[in-house]
Amino acid sequence: MKKIAVYPGSFDPITNGHLDIIKRGLSMFDELIVLIAYNSTKSSLFTVEERVEMIQEALGGKKGVRVDSYDGLLVDYVRSAGANTILRGLRAMSEFEYEFQMALMNRRINRNVETVFLMTGYKWFYTSSTIIKEVARLGASPKGLIPEIVYRKMQEKFPQMNKGKVI
Ligand code: ADP
Repeated sequence: MKKIAVYPGSFDPITNGHLDIIKRGLSMFDELIVLIAYNSTKSSLFTVEERVEMIQEALGGKKGVRVDSYDGLLVDYVRSAGANTILRGLRAMSEFEYEFQMALMNRRINRNVETVFLMTGYKWFYTSSTIIKEVARLGASPKGLIPEIVYRKMQEKFPQMNKGKVI
């Protein structure tokens, strides 16, 4: 039986930290679905369509991974996709409590769905979509932390990046 996992998140926008989790996830699963899950508590910089497009381009046709979006219960999506695993990345302790809560809630909703965590690659420990948007807004250029396509799209949103320090 094919091992399929769903990697959910906001991906607003996708970063090299996310790509690292995807690459490593692909060595564990036959198929990975990167799922843009609508998050009612976050306002987004990019539309879902823009995020899908950026992820697809960043993946460059990599085999075994596809992108989708969903605004319902995550575990329902997981089952309907024929998967039984949720993949998440873990950075610091601050994330642990939220992730723990989500994993247990999802398990309560459906006991057959397990959440698997991968530790962040040390290079991406402090990389988050939020901090990338913040430094870009303030005029730094986070080129080394995001895929090329995301860099170009962010330059359109934040022209001040072009004059800033490249990090
Ligand atoms: P959410 O909005 O649910 O926090 P994100 O788009 O921020 O979603 O992230 C999706 C998943 O990717 C989460 O599990 C998050 O912990 C993980 N992630 C984000 N950035 C990194 C990173 N730099 N290294 C490892 N995992 C990461």
